[in-house]
Amino acid sequence: MSLLGRGKVAEAMRALEAELAGGPRAALDLDVLQLADLLRRRAERLRPKEEPERELLAAFPDAAGILGVYGAVRVANTALDGMAPGGRAAGRTPLEITRSHDLAEAARRALQGHTKRLELELPPGSRTFVAQLTPLLRGEVLMLLRDVTEARRAEQARRDFVANASHELRTPVAAIHGAAETLLAGALQDPEAARRFAEMIARQAERLARLTRDLLDLSRIESGQWTMQLGPVEVEQALRAAGDLVVPAAREKGVELRREEPSGLRVLADPRALEHVLVNLLDNAVKYTPRGGTVTLAAGQEGDRVVLSVADTGPGIDRQHLTRLFERFYRADPGRSRDQGGTGIGLALVKHLVQAQKGEVGVESGSQGSRFWVRLSQA
Ligand code: ADP
Repeated sequence: MSLLGRGKVAEAMRALEAELAGGPRAALDLDVLQLADLLRRRAERLRPKEEPERELLAAFPDAAGILGVYGAVRVANTALDGMAPGGRAAGRTPLEITRSHDLAEAARRALQGHTKRLELELPPGSRTFVAQLTPLLRGEVLMLLRDVTEARRAEQARRDFVANASHELRTPVAAIHGAAETLLAGALQDPEAARRFAEMIARQAERLARLTRDLLDLSRIESGQWTMQLGPVEVEQALRAAGDLVVPAAREKGVELRREEPSGLRVLADPRALEHVLVNLLDNAVKYTPRGGTVTLAAGQEGDRVVLSVADTGPGIDRQHLTRLFERFYRADPGRSRDQGGTGIGLALVKHLVQAQKGEVGVESGSQGSRFWVRLSQA
């Protein structure tokens, strides 16, 4: 205090307090400014050296830590702490944190100066991680553990999708190919056979067209290109329009189409998407219901929601299939679906479209038939 003098400090403090309380900017003496600078430099020196490292590690989206030269974690971010027993990674080895001997071995090699990258399941069979171990200066190692479970799952789904789609496309293409070759090989000379093969080509081409259309619709909605225009839709009108579209198929099949069209109900929906949903459900109901059966289209209010339903007197669906029915390409009865020209995509589309309209879709089924329902907000 001797150099600066008590008066100067007290004066500077008063001026700063006044400034912070909203007053004018404090004019500080040069000595006071120098003192402030010295205090700042000393605080910096006293700050633990882990602090900047911790700040850096916190910025990683992955679990991250620095392994000290003896192989234990010296600094960790919260994600790595979360993986460690007791919620604290510091002081523990990678083996103690993850129980993975592969990771322990990779860490040992990294401490010898080799960069290591490996994939692990932590705990085994649960989540997939990519571990990256990078030697740092001073003989330490930066360890990053990235959870890639979702990414791997998405890759697998994409691969399955391509495999399924190719399989679906191959069947009609092979049938068309076979029929055309048979025609060229001489069946053309036999009008009866020629007609049969030409019909087969037409049928399979129609199936191909349906499949490509469904695939396009699905990709459009999954990639967000099909934007919903939600607004009030008259339920009576929507049911009538959808029902009208399947009347010819029902008549041809000998299936009775019953319609309960309650007046006055309105739902919040996209008219085109809602029609797509109802037509898909009605199509299925007519397709899977044997001659002489009945398909009932109905709607009713449930609190502030409206439930639209399509019920049939068809064969019903075994319980074991119900949870997976809305997955793409999932069929409860693959033979029957293909015989009916099914693509296995219809219900996946229905689910996407209903969810995009902030609704829910479900099915109840038993030996008496199936009932698919769609629940939407009342408008
Ligand atoms: P598909 O083109 O095969 O009909 P969907 O995605 O529309 O594909 O339906 C998936 C599966 O659900 C069908 O293959 C069929 O096994 C079953 N399914 C759908 N609707 C009905 C129904 N009304 N009655 C019986 N089974 C049905």
